[in-house]
Amino acid sequence: MSEIQVQLQEWMGSDKSIADAAWTSSTSTEGMAYRTPADVVRVVNMLADQGHSTPFESVVLRFWLRIPIATDRQIMTHRLQSSNGLSGRYRSVPSDFHEMPDDVLAIAQKAGLGDSIPEKYAMHCTAANSWYEETLANAKEQRNNGLISSDEYKRLREFVRGALPQHNYTERTTVMNLRSWANFLRLRLAPSAQPEIREVARQMLQQVTESDVCPFALAALARNEWRI
Ligand SMILES: Cc1cc2nc3c(=O)[nH]c(=O)nc-3n(C[C@H](O)[C@H](O)[C@H](O)COP(=O)(O)OP(=O)(O)OC[C@H]3O[C@@H](n4cnc5c(N)ncnc54)[C@H](O)[C@@H]3O)c2cc1C
Repeated sequence: MSEIQVQLQEWMGSDKSIADAAWTSSTSTEGMAYRTPADVVRVVNMLADQGHSTPFESVVLRFWLRIPIATDRQIMTHRLQSSNGLSGRYRSVPSDFHEMPDDVLAIAQKAGLGDSIPEKYAMHCTAANSWYEETLANAKEQRNNGLISSDEYKRLREFVRGALPQHNYTERTTVMNLRSWANFLRLRLAPSAQPEIREVARQMLQQVTESDVCPFALAALARNEWRI
């Protein structure tokens, strides 16, 4: 079964980068050499508690995501990110889709919509994907025969993806600094957020935690419910 996938691909910065950025205002470069790891922890906590936000922008994270298109639309509402996404012009869109989760099935059953709801949902998604694949296969053949040009094939491929379900999987790379990402977590880990984007936020947080990028900043931001 297809699943939401997150990979922390790269990062820049650490707890010390955050403290160094803050110390720019108060300490000479020579003076910074005398700062200790305990000073870093103290300053990171102070910045988080006082809402001194810009030093947290010294940590930058790059994630690769494999997510349903509907979830991707929600991710794209976050303007403070740099992102790139899968192109339906240059790649055939993956034909796997987000299957009906158990909580939705339970609601459908409670509403008396019938036990075959997941199968019917999958049938519609599969039919749209099959038509897309078949259309592209035929068009590709005519491109190879010289009936249409490569550019015309790409244009057609880009357009016919419009028939595909909102829950087909897509891919995105997003770069966020720690401040912007904290805002993302605040909004998207919340119980009011949709389970799919909560899963993205959960996996992001797990990977940043396991990679030990900036443990003290992470703890301080979490303590303040990601408000900075
Ligand atoms: C539960 C939930 C439901 C939602 N439902 C909907 C919905 O139905 N429809 C919909 O369209 N969106 C919806 N959203 C998206 C939401 O409205 C935001 O667009 C999205 O969460 C991005 O938040 P943000 O602006 O804080 O993040 P970013 O865009 O990353 O911005 C980060 C911060 O920068 C500042 N900022 C950025 N741009 C500006 C600006 N132009 N002016 C002033 N300050 C700025 C703000 O402080 C902002 O918090 C929903 C979000 C959640 C969490």
